Amino acid sequence: MICVLIGRGRHSSAIDEWEAAAAAGAELVEVRADCLRRDPDLKRLLAQRFTPLVFTMRRSIDGGLYRGDEEKRQRLIREAIVLGVDYVDLEMDIAAKIPRFGKTKRIISYHNLKRAPEDLADIHAKCAELNPDIIKIAVNASSLADVSRVLKIAAESKIPTIAIAMGELGAFTRVLGAKYGAPFTYAGFNPERNFAPGMPMFMTLKKGYQYDLIDKETETYAVIGDPIGHSLSPAVHNAAFRHVGINKVYVPIQVPAGRLKESLEELAWLNIRGYSVTIPHKEAIIPLLSKADGAVERIGSCNTVVLQGDEKIGHNTDYRAAMDSLEEALGGPGATEDVSPLLNKQVLILGAGGVARAIASGLSRRGAGVIITNRTDQRATELAQEVGARTVAWSARAGTSHDILINCTPVGMHPDVDDTPMPPAGYKQGAIVFDTVYHPENTMFLKLARERGCTTITGVDMFVRQAALQFQMFTGRDAPVDLMREVVKRQLGPHRDY
Ligand code: NAP
Repeated sequence: MICVLIGRGRHSSAIDEWEAAAAAGAELVEVRADCLRRDPDLKRLLAQRFTPLVFTMRRSIDGGLYRGDEEKRQRLIREAIVLGVDYVDLEMDIAAKIPRFGKTKRIISYHNLKRAPEDLADIHAKCAELNPDIIKIAVNASSLADVSRVLKIAAESKIPTIAIAMGELGAFTRVLGAKYGAPFTYAGFNPERNFAPGMPMFMTLKKGYQYDLIDKETETYAVIGDPIGHSLSPAVHNAAFRHVGINKVYVPIQVPAGRLKESLEELAWLNIRGYSVTIPHKEAIIPLLSKADGAVERIGSCNTVVLQGDEKIGHNTDYRAAMDSLEEALGGPGATEDVSPLLNKQVLILGAGGVARAIASGLSRRGAGVIITNRTDQRATELAQEVGARTVAWSARAGTSHDILINCTPVGMHPDVDDTPMPPAGYKQGAIVFDTVYHPENTMFLKLARERGCTTITGVDMFVRQAALQFQMFTGRDAPVDLMREVVKRQLGPHRDY
């Protein structure tokens, strides 16, 4: 179950928002009475109960807004219990002073906004002695080791426990709690109010993660990288898993640069069955693999890891997606790589980074003539030597003849949507023009190309293909490609809803 958190300054606003949350499908609401600017009028607040209610009056030391007299706060909590609220949140240091009464369930909570103390298990055990129905632990995590420890508290508890590691690092604990016995998780409702770092919005959990379907049998998948908060992959993979009716969930995990090995070890108990790997770990993951496919070995970059038992098998679906997109635009793949329709095509690649290397290597293998141009000449020269290509100076790119033109730089990416890495004179009538940038889908680079009669391939085409290939590897099934494309477009559009 998802508990929507409502904290408003006015009683009328809190009541309106509660009604709106219920109408949107919320089954439980936490009213944070500490956010009210006046003393709470409990009878007014509770006159209409649109859903079952958690009543909370959070002190400032625990991250709330209540700064008044503590006796008064506890009196109000007792009054709420007498009025029969469904749950009451009692901090562990005051819980003994507030006896159980009526049907109100007790959430015994511990908050630490600074750190995840080493004695978290003892703290949990003390909460367990305070007559709880539910224990809530919410602490600030500064490493994945902290996050892992927090989630383990819930997993090992006999009493239903909501264990949250606050912040971006621990954001996935708010989703995976459902697998490890949390009776509910907290979510925001009003996008203008962010109560706790890492707390997702109600619709993200409900629609995006299909949170209510997560249970202890759910298999976990993840995207690892840094930054990771804006990754499209969770929305795409979760929608696809649920569409085909398989019990898997996919979460973003922020793994800082230089901490990959330890992080994977710390997360091992979660038994994650597959990873998407993104910047900055695509190269660093390779020594940690048990096996890698040929593309990973040739390119030195891995964006997908599938677990077979304890073995970690590495793949590169970016590479295959780019080759498939190009071959399809040329009328479909050949019978073997030797007779690919890319054979003898002249391809001009803008950029010499990771994606350029994957694409240039695939093109060379298929017998295309590859020309690399890059803002920094030295990198172009190094890549050209590696893959058997030639180079042209960045200043000469517009005058370079080609059949296919590919942008492997981030130029034109949101928010710099009016930029293009190729001036208008550089497009050749009838060429295939491919932009790896996917946000926005219709970049200035592609608009200029279409105006000059070129056939275009978008970064969304490539992104959806690489995600579909990952889905096949994760599930052994064909991917619902149309649905995945629709989700990507919605996420990139103005109406991103989760
Ligand atoms: P990367 O390794 O950082 O390489 C970036 C390349 O772009 C370098 O060659 C860099 O040139 C060049 N560059 C950066 N800013 C530039 C500028 N202002 N003007 C000219 N050149 C510039 O990045 P990457 O991993 O290869 O990713 C490149 C792009 O691929 C990203 O923008 C991403 O959107 C896209 N991508 C798409 C997909 C997909 O599925 N569609 C998947 C992965 C990546 P220097 O060498 O001079 O720095």
